[in-house]
Amino acid sequence: MPAPYVVIGAGTMGSSIARCLAERGHGVVAIDQRQAPNAASEHHGEARMFRTAYYEHPAYVPLLRHARSGWLDLNSRARPLLGDDLYHETGVIYGSAPGGEVVAGSLRSAGEHDVPIEPLTPSQAVARCPSLRFPSSWSCVFEPHAGMIRPEAAVLANIALARAAGATILTEQPVTNLTQGAAEVIVHARSPAGEPCDRVASQVVICTGAWTSRLLRDAKLAAPPIIATRQPLGWITPAHPDRFALGVHPCWAAEDAPGSLAYGFPLLPRATAFRVAHHHLGPTINPDTLDRQPTPADRDHLRGIIDAYLPDAGSLTNLAIAHYSVSRDQHFLLGQIAPRIWLCAGFSGHGFKFAPVIGEAFADLLTTGHTHHDLSFFSPSRLPSQ
Ligand SMILES: Cc1cc2nc3c(=O)[nH]c(=O)nc-3n(C[C@H](O)[C@H](O)[C@H](O)COP(=O)(O)OP(=O)(O)OC[C@H]3O[C@@H](n4cnc5c(N)ncnc54)[C@H](O)[C@@H]3O)c2cc1C
Repeated sequence: MPAPYVVIGAGTMGSSIARCLAERGHGVVAIDQRQAPNAASEHHGEARMFRTAYYEHPAYVPLLRHARSGWLDLNSRARPLLGDDLYHETGVIYGSAPGGEVVAGSLRSAGEHDVPIEPLTPSQAVARCPSLRFPSSWSCVFEPHAGMIRPEAAVLANIALARAAGATILTEQPVTNLTQGAAEVIVHARSPAGEPCDRVASQVVICTGAWTSRLLRDAKLAAPPIIATRQPLGWITPAHPDRFALGVHPCWAAEDAPGSLAYGFPLLPRATAFRVAHHHLGPTINPDTLDRQPTPADRDHLRGIIDAYLPDAGSLTNLAIAHYSVSRDQHFLLGQIAPRIWLCAGFSGHGFKFAPVIGEAFADLLTTGHTHHDLSFFSPSRLPSQ
């Protein structure tokens, strides 16, 4: 029997890759240092935005088209397991201050790849979403086939479907090192009891988020560095829930300065609060020692966002501290870094939406060495190694 494929990290990307491999009939073991899902990883926080008119770069758009079909498919297959939807197509309104990149970049990607998108004036944006405020000098767009994903539910669904298709999912087992053999890789881990525990793998994919540089260093593998940054997020309990309900209130994002994006989500059925946050690079942290207690400054910062864009929304009733795992140019690191070892990391605060297509692409790469998805833009070799 051939050695299985081993996926290190069973979070956002690892769970999707494990499901795709198992559903194609391959032997796969996914190993996570914690539970899957877990609140200390990057898939925590109840809401992730999905959009296709990608302002970050047009190279992402073909992947996003596949990802959207993947979310629609996963949503319908997971609904009986979860008793609920994990993907909601709400549409997204973006606004940019003059000179901003988000609206201009979204229009560029939409134009190059024929993605439906509708330019709006700020007053048309408010007419579409009366609770939202954008300054009158801003430019805006509406993307209809965009929406929100429930990240913990998505990881849970991938894990359940992977297991149902025969994958072995191991939790509370940190991988500590990798050794290359003649025709395989030895994956060194610690059992939940702390005992050394080795596994032979035919191919390995590293999906360890903010812990990636540590594992690469320990395994003496050269790859570009990934840093972790501190990112606060908040929940609003709306004074008038009907104004923020799914179907009334879309996802939204407001670019007040280059690289600085306030954003938020609608209120889901049965939820009492909805999420807002600020996409920008926070201070560099260590994900193992990060103090996840929000500070008064975090509260003031998020309150400022609410006052600016959703002035009548309601109270900020909950906060959390999350982290991003960030590559040097904030684009993903996807590709082979050593014989039989692949890197799938550096999602830089915007990767969740890609999980279904990343699952497919890495199932192709591990099993055949190539994929029809064009990942050349994301090659780790474009950046210097640590
Ligand atoms: C607050 C916030 C908001 C975001 N908003 C969006 C958004 O709106 N849209 C979007 O597309 N993206 C968004 N993102 C980004 C997205 O969530 C991440 O890019 C994505 O979750 C990264 O997936 P990952 O698999 O790399 O990491 P993770 O999901 O963190 O998975 C890594 C896993 O590896 C495990 N692990 C680590 N080291 C080891 C080891 N040595 N051995 C075994 N297991 C290990 C961890 O326990 C973890 O489970 C957001 C991120 C945050 C934090």
